[in-house]
Amino acid sequence: MGSKESVLIIEDSPAVGMLLAEFMRKLGYTDIKTAETGRAGISLFKQFVEKSITPLIFLDYNLPDSTANSIMSQILSIKPFTKIIIETANGKEEESIKEVIGLGAYHYLQKPIHFNDVEKIITILEEEESYLAKKSRQSDAMEEDIDETKIAERINFIFQTNNQVSLNKIIEILGFSNNFIESYLKKLEKEGKIISLDTKKEVACNQCDSIRTSQVFFCPNCKSSDFKLGKLIEHYDCGNITEENTYQNDICPNCKKEIKALGVDYRVMKNHYMCNNCKDFFPEISTNYICLKCENKFRLEEARWKSSVNYKVVNRQ
Ligand SMILES: [Zn+2]
Ligand SMILES: [Zn+2]
Ligand SMILES: [Zn+2]
Repeated sequence: MGSKESVLIIEDSPAVGMLLAEFMRKLGYTDIKTAETGRAGISLFKQFVEKSITPLIFLDYNLPDSTANSIMSQILSIKPFTKIIIETANGKEEESIKEVIGLGAYHYLQKPIHFNDVEKIITILEEEESYLAKKSRQSDAMEEDIDETKIAERINFIFQTNNQVSLNKIIEILGFSNNFIESYLKKLEKEGKIISLDTKKEVACNQCDSIRTSQVFFCPNCKSSDFKLGKLIEHYDCGNITEENTYQNDICPNCKKEIKALGVDYRVMKNHYMCNNCKDFFPEISTNYICLKCENKFRLEEARWKSSVNYKVVNRQ
């Protein structure tokens, strides 16, 4: 076991990595490993898993060698229950982050990283873990055991880390449903802290009905999730298509001729996925869903859909 003490930090800045490690030690975690690239992170993760440990993961959203989607897909394919905390630099990344959160990242942590924020997330995660452990021992729902102040606190926290969240998602994160949840949401709405938007349709597991699912991305050719996003250059003369950085000093790596004019003898293909495994490249990457509750894997066509009210946080001043 020992999974509760283990942390894996995948972060390219050594300073931020050290700071996070120090925070986690303060919070009582003892087995902390740091990786500065996505590739090193995945290999450390596999070492943990070989020892039957699932570490808590801090993942830098902007790593030089991989996209967050690739890393998360690789981690979740190995261990769907892994808790991943995404570190983000600032607000302008918000759209992409929302996307990733929708894909199953548990929380995000904004840089510069403050101890209080880390502590808050860890508290929630630990509470959830002990709740789930209790629940599996008692088999039946036990919502009466949790006091309303605690539920209110957790709902507030959900709104702090999500700008928009559906009722179904809130229920899923809390792990139960009761009358207090809806009445508390009504109260927040009345106080002008949140507003309800249209109903939101969400993908649900076709086996256990949970909406706690994540997309897993993979290469259409070899099915590997080890890929990156980048720019390719096609040299019309010889037909070579490789990454931009293989054209050193504007020399085609294949025919050794110089590339001269964009659109005339070469073109740039932006935002292409490049598979690190089979080296093939694609404008789109394939995707499957994985249920974070029962580990079932399914395709979009096989998904169930669930609808519920969607709430939006009113901008805090
Ligand atoms: Zn499921
Ligand atoms: Zn060429
Ligand atoms: Zn491939």
